[in-house]
Amino acid sequence: MADKPEMPKMNAETLKLDPSFKYEVMKEHDGETLKVCFQCGSCTSSCPTARFSTSYRPRTILRMAQLGLRRKVLESQTLWLCTACFTCTDRCPQNVEVANVLRVLRNLAVKKGQIPGIFTELASNIYATGYVYKIPEMRLRKRAELGLPPLPKANLDGVDKLIELAGGRKLLKSAEVR
Ligand code: SF4
Ligand code: SF4
Repeated sequence: MADKPEMPKMNAETLKLDPSFKYEVMKEHDGETLKVCFQCGSCTSSCPTARFSTSYRPRTILRMAQLGLRRKVLESQTLWLCTACFTCTDRCPQNVEVANVLRVLRNLAVKKGQIPGIFTELASNIYATGYVYKIPEMRLRKRAELGLPPLPKANLDGVDKLIELAGGRKLLKSAEVR
C-alpha cells in the first residue's frame, strides 16, 4: 500500500496542547467514549490499515486527541487512512467507539478546511455525475460494444438535496478553490 501520508510540519505551534480539544470531541455523538481509552493498543493491533502502514495507529491518534494535540491530529492526513471497517470498535475492551471517534476527528478537520484533495475530488464527482468517479466515454463505448446495458442515470436532484442537507456545499466550494 502506498504509504506516504503528509504530516504537518512539527513546530511549537503544531505541538501546542489545547486542553479544550478533547471536550470538543466528547461533545459529539460517540465522541464521549474517547475519555475511557486506556491505551491498551487492541485497536491498532486489529486494524487492517495499520497492518500495511508504518504511520497509521488509531491508538496514537486517540492519545494525541486526549492530550490536546489539536493541530497535530487535525492537520495529519494519516487521519484519513481509516477505512471505517469498525474492527477496532468491535475489539476495544473499553467499548470506545474508535471508528466513530475517528469520524468525529475527520469532521472537525473538515470544519477547519483540512481535507485531502482526493476527497474533495470524489465529492465533486458525485455532485456532477452521481458517480464517485467520472466514467470515461471510452468505457461507455466499450460497454455498448459488448452489449451491456447503459449505466443508470443518477438522480442529480436527489444528490443535490443530500449534499445540501449534509452541509457539503462548503466542501465543494473548497474543492473549487483547490
Ligand atoms: S482498544 Fe480501546 S482502550 Fe485500547 S487503545 Fe484502542 S481505543 Fe483505547
Ligand atoms: S475503523 Fe479505521 S481504525 Fe478502526 S480498524 Fe478499521 S481502518 Fe482501523
